Amino acid sequence: MESLRRKLSRIDGRGYGSYREIRGVYDFPGYTLFIDHVQGDPFAPPSRVRVRVEEESACMSEALFSNRSRRTGLEDYLARSFARAVDRTAKGERGSGNSGRISIQKCGQEILERSSVVVSRGWVEARFTVGLPARGRTVLGRDAEEMFFREIPAIVRRSLLARSLDMEDVRRHVEIAEDQDSIRNELSRRGYVCFVADGSILPRSSGVDDRPMDGSRAVPVKSPGSLCATFQTPNSGEVRGMAIPAGVTLVVGGGYHGKSTLLRAIERGVYNHIPGDGRELVVTVRGAVKVRAEDGRRVEKVDISAFLGNLPDGMDTREFSTEDASGSTSQAANIVEVVEVGAELLLMDEDTCATNFLIRDRRMQELIKKEKEPITPFLDRVRGLSQHLGVSSILVLGGSGDYLDVADTVIALDTYQPQDVTGFAREVAARYRTRREIEAEGELPTLTRRAPLPESFNPKRGRRDVKIDSKSRSAISFGRTEIDLSCVEQLVDIAQTRAVGDAIHYISRKYAAGSHSMREIVQKLESDIEKSGLDVLSPFPDQVFGGYALPRRFEVAAAINRMRTLSVEQLGPER
Ligand code: ADP
Ligand code: MG
Repeated sequence: MESLRRKLSRIDGRGYGSYREIRGVYDFPGYTLFIDHVQGDPFAPPSRVRVRVEEESACMSEALFSNRSRRTGLEDYLARSFARAVDRTAKGERGSGNSGRISIQKCGQEILERSSVVVSRGWVEARFTVGLPARGRTVLGRDAEEMFFREIPAIVRRSLLARSLDMEDVRRHVEIAEDQDSIRNELSRRGYVCFVADGSILPRSSGVDDRPMDGSRAVPVKSPGSLCATFQTPNSGEVRGMAIPAGVTLVVGGGYHGKSTLLRAIERGVYNHIPGDGRELVVTVRGAVKVRAEDGRRVEKVDISAFLGNLPDGMDTREFSTEDASGSTSQAANIVEVVEVGAELLLMDEDTCATNFLIRDRRMQELIKKEKEPITPFLDRVRGLSQHLGVSSILVLGGSGDYLDVADTVIALDTYQPQDVTGFAREVAARYRTRREIEAEGELPTLTRRAPLPESFNPKRGRRDVKIDSKSRSAISFGRTEIDLSCVEQLVDIAQTRAVGDAIHYISRKYAAGSHSMREIVQKLESDIEKSGLDVLSPFPDQVFGGYALPRRFEVAAAINRMRTLSVEQLGPER
């Protein structure tokens, strides 16, 4: 600690480059400070710093991190508490560029596995960035001293030590995470794909604010009796709510009655939510994937023959490639790609689907003969997906009754309240026959495996051997390639996007050369992260990085599939 103080006073007033000298490890009372990476100038990305607080100072009870769910809950809590302490403590701006700024990964409504705080037996570590202060390019040694000797110690004291936290609050955060994982683990076993607890608040504050809608306006969910189920949770006792069974489910209802809001909550139910979010007991199976139309995207050798055949240009749809997909071909590719990596539930909203992909009614079948229509609508495949591949679907569909013939469950939303109208829907379907012809021939074709080739992934840009970054939640620059993830709706945090970018690089170094299928690759990635944590993703092996949050395999695969440089080899059917 004293050696850091001496260095700072020595370099005070010198050129910015002399900050390089403070890289290193320093002992502070109760914690160790690591200055891992020092920025080159005040405008560059700020310097990377860690504090590792010893167990004797942090005093976190082991019960708070006794399993993966709890640990993730605790780490997430501490990351938020650190961020709050920064807001209350740090002075902020102290000169040019990023001078004086202390910052840690921001957290939204989801409890995610993050690399910004790591709890382990023996210590609690927070990783954050510090803008080393300068006026122009002149080191402000005194300000730096204030940051390292006053601000950071105060932040650590206020945010990472049990004695300064509201431990009741911490416990609730950890327990709610564990409850959500416990329900999620039980869903499939009981034949459900989703659970929405009674009393949940689904609508959000606004289209750009993910916090819950004001309680005076929001109508809480109440399950219809016939879909009601109870789950035993480790910490909240028995919870009751609407359980959606596996199979084909339609969500119908008048415009503006809350269909899309329900579906969006189900989409997000693959993640745990913080207490007070309103969706903390809305839980969906891990393999639930939102799919939509995405015209303009690139597609690389995807077998979409289950949905499209006989294209006018004669292309073989078992190996469909394009630089510019249409609405229907993009949606078909999106479905096949997520099933390829293990999706168990497809979520679709008519608001973002290609109509001709969803339906082809009796009259259109008459007007345009089957030989002239390449598309086999989803309507004729949705049951096969469920019965032969075990892939369920939840479809929001207010506009077409043709789906009543293929649905196992029909939920109607009436003034935001779900009703079970399955029986009535059957009656209607029997009374008003569509008289359309079923267009699917036989079973679904088997899935073709694809192996990405190593030349797909080049992280070089300019003079840098590895240049990967994310400017927003929905964009990755990978070397000289831009990956557009704006239609990948379950990527919820820019920290996940960053992790996806580096995960692609990790995969390309470790697994791209072995003719591994996409599914094998994302499985290997998952198990590596499970074993060694998010730190494995860092492109610089000796450096840990606090900017990651765990992405799912589906979002990693989605990014690879959207690379304009991707090339794959088809390997034949899934084993
Ligand atoms: P739909 O998809 O059926 O047309 P939306 O889900 O888009 O309807 O919802 C329409 C509006 O109603 C949105 O502004 C949404 O925030 C609001 N809303 C949805 N669910 C609720 C609810 N439970 N309580 C209050 N407002 C809601
Ligand atoms: Mg809608």
